[in-house]
Amino acid sequence: MTNATEPFDALMDITARPPAVFVKGEGAYLWDDSGKRYLDFMQGWAVNCLGHSPAIVADALARQSKLLLTPSPAFFNEPSLKLARALVANSCFDQVFFANSGAEANEGAIKLARKYGAKHKGGAFEIISFVGGFHGRTLATMSASGKKAFEPLFEPKVAGFPKARLNDLDSVKQLISDKTVAVMLEPIQGEAGVWPATDQFLRELRALTEAHGLLLIVDEIQTGMGRTGKLFHYQHSGIEPDIMTLGKGIGGGVPLAALLATEHASCFEHGDQGGTFNGNPLMCAAGLAVLEHVATPHFLKSTADAGLFLESQLQKLSARHGLGEVRGRGLLLALDLKLPIGASIVAQAFAEGVLLNSPQPDALRFMPALNVTADEISAMIDCLDTILLKAGAARRVA
Ligand SMILES: *Cc1c(COP(=O)(O)O)cnc(C)c1O
Repeated sequence: MTNATEPFDALMDITARPPAVFVKGEGAYLWDDSGKRYLDFMQGWAVNCLGHSPAIVADALARQSKLLLTPSPAFFNEPSLKLARALVANSCFDQVFFANSGAEANEGAIKLARKYGAKHKGGAFEIISFVGGFHGRTLATMSASGKKAFEPLFEPKVAGFPKARLNDLDSVKQLISDKTVAVMLEPIQGEAGVWPATDQFLRELRALTEAHGLLLIVDEIQTGMGRTGKLFHYQHSGIEPDIMTLGKGIGGGVPLAALLATEHASCFEHGDQGGTFNGNPLMCAAGLAVLEHVATPHFLKSTADAGLFLESQLQKLSARHGLGEVRGRGLLLALDLKLPIGASIVAQAFAEGVLLNSPQPDALRFMPALNVTADEISAMIDCLDTILLKAGAARRVA
């Protein structure tokens, strides 16, 4: 039953949303149904790596939609073969399984590790994950996450995810037993507020997992696809993980995700893994168009440069307003506000037509399109500067 006066009632109320309805996107901008324009520094949660509705994705979808949508997951199709080959050619991995969301890709990574444990490590099944980590909203990925708010939810959780602390190798060592099969982490904890693992920690973790015959799983759903200035974050530290998951940016705005594994770790047998829409040609055609665009030295260099510019502008802003550190890498950055004013800043910026995100009460996270321009960065900084001036004046009066 529809009720025209309560247009939002038919959707489950799963999060607080502003009452605007978004109708159009182009590059760095979104428009709502009143015609108001917003400069977008969230980009669908780091999803739209080429901005809103980029022509190369729209064209790939249009072309593929007229050719073939879903032959059946039991048949090969060209776009998925091409995209898998391109991902393999651009990474240290040998095989790919496509998924429809990040959580599903991580669920696959967890299953692959457990399969490996069953086959090669006497039934070992525990996967050491990290306090503050976020891996998705299925039952197993919530269990793997180290998010405080998840702890009381949907008990009993999936067992077998002891939690270590990021950048603390001893905390990992202490959890290793003959039940351990893998260690899983985000190279930069995104939802927790952009907390990077150091390159040294990643190298030590790789050496430790190798010494114990454990799989190293990197969740690059947020850090992958050029976000940090290299195609994949693990390339900064020079390590080679056994398993990687991708999501968000890989589809450039459409639901696509991937599970990648080295030949050694890739041990699924028939019947272990599958899915109706997994590897469907429509999404893979979009993914291929995105990858061909992003995986060029020129594009990655311009992303890294834009990241450095945003970082320097945020540092200036922080110094001017007495705020805290700027964290992160490339175009995944956070500004420490030192005070729990994140939500208030996000609301004021929204009113001013700038979309920002506050993953924690005292931090702002910036995840613009990878092709964001210096002018767009400056416009966002100006808006933030005005809001912070007002907030400072209010604090001085109070
Ligand atoms: C967003 C995210 C996920 C979950 O992806 P969905 O597509 O929302 O299921 C998992 N891990 C990380 C690091 C993420 O940022």
